[in-house]
Amino acid sequence: MNRPSISLRLTLWFTAVFLCGFVILSVAMWVGWSYTLSSGRDRTITRRATRAFEVLANNVNLPQATVALRYDEFVDSTPEGNLIEISDALGSVLFPRNGAAPRDFPWPTPATSPADTFENRTYKGREYRIIQHPVEFNGERLIVLVAGQLEDNRQMLARFTKGLIETIPVLLIATALAGYFMSRRVLRPVGRLTGAVRSLTIGNLAERLPTSQTGDELQRLAETCNDMLARLESAVTQIKRFTADASHELRSPLSFISMVSECALRNPAYPLECREVFEEILAESKEAAHLLEDMLTLARADAGNVDIPFEPTDLVHVVQDAVERARIPAEAKRHILKLQCIGGPFEVRGDRASLRRLVWTLLDNAIKYTPEGGRVDVSLERSPTHVRVAVRDAGVGIPPELLPRVFERFFRADPARSQNGTGLGLAIAKWIANVHQAEISVESQLGVGSAFTVAFPAQSSGSLKVRML
Ligand code: ADP
Repeated sequence: MNRPSISLRLTLWFTAVFLCGFVILSVAMWVGWSYTLSSGRDRTITRRATRAFEVLANNVNLPQATVALRYDEFVDSTPEGNLIEISDALGSVLFPRNGAAPRDFPWPTPATSPADTFENRTYKGREYRIIQHPVEFNGERLIVLVAGQLEDNRQMLARFTKGLIETIPVLLIATALAGYFMSRRVLRPVGRLTGAVRSLTIGNLAERLPTSQTGDELQRLAETCNDMLARLESAVTQIKRFTADASHELRSPLSFISMVSECALRNPAYPLECREVFEEILAESKEAAHLLEDMLTLARADAGNVDIPFEPTDLVHVVQDAVERARIPAEAKRHILKLQCIGGPFEVRGDRASLRRLVWTLLDNAIKYTPEGGRVDVSLERSPTHVRVAVRDAGVGIPPELLPRVFERFFRADPARSQNGTGLGLAIAKWIANVHQAEISVESQLGVGSAFTVAFPAQSSGSLKVRML
């Protein structure tokens, strides 16, 4: 299974880390807020308890009835005043005189502790915080009881929690977008490197990848790739030089073998069996010489030292020459060979000898790979922008999966059937097309036939020093 792209993974990581941070922060804020609210509530009820006692303390010298009156006024003017009572140590309510809270309000049993005590009680489904504030009044221990609702705190916390939860999807989208754009931005140079590496072929190994002086991993990656390219270039150059040298050095011994075989064949003194062996040696050495010539041509093309003189060339003559030459092998296989010219003129700028070789390669293949009694059609066609040469046959065809490889060196779709080929013909044909700025293409259907087309621009000029592409 394919792993998701780096930019997607970065985005997911970024979003996940941000979300975790947000959740931790939210929990911390929630705990802090909840603590602030509950300690605020405790402070409020403590303050009320203190003020309730102050009413008694400030009026200590007044008659009991007046004190009770003052206390009632205080209760009326205080929020949740009905939840403030002062009782003696046994729990009997002293102020207000008739008690303010509902009779069934769950006041706690009087505490004996000298310090304030707090506890929570539920009354009619609501929660209350209750303080017992012990005081000394007229030498007697009294307890100020104050209750305060916790409902407001609950609601505030609920609103706060709701706000946090509602923020999560918005934050999630915002961080995912930010993470995606950041990762795209960071990975943009990687995309450029990938494009540059993809455009490298054996023909442009001398090129180097762009390096930015950022001192980061990408600079090191580009530099490492460039080092590797330098090593590859040097290895490929050595191989090419070796191929060229070997092809060149093998020419003389091969022509010597051919010459000796020809001389031997001319000598009537040799018996028939010997003559057959010499004929075989001659045929094989000619085949090997042909292969060497092809390899040498490509090696020179790779080295960039083939000088092709461009001149105005009429493709009609080139194609006619090749067709005439092909008549003998075509007749030997009882093929119908037809040439058709549509429109004109067919003049292009190029090298007549190379172009003849190009057309001949296509024709030779068409004849070779068409079973006896078949048909080969050559056409020459002119459009406003191009001059096209097409060679169509009704031969064996090429399997679709092998079609993109037919112009590779030493490629043979079926080596058993292509015994008398070198596998270099189409590679050279492509090179010749390239140096003439022409495009060579192939269409084929297995068992039906193939069509090779070379499209020349209507004009091409100059004498080019050419290198294999
Ligand atoms: P070869 O010397 O083997 O013909 P080429 O480079 O000319 O080498 O062709 C490469 C391979 O492409 C051939 O071996 C053959 O398998 C296939 N091929 C080329 N032309 C044709 C064609 N007209 N019909 C079928 N196969 C072809």
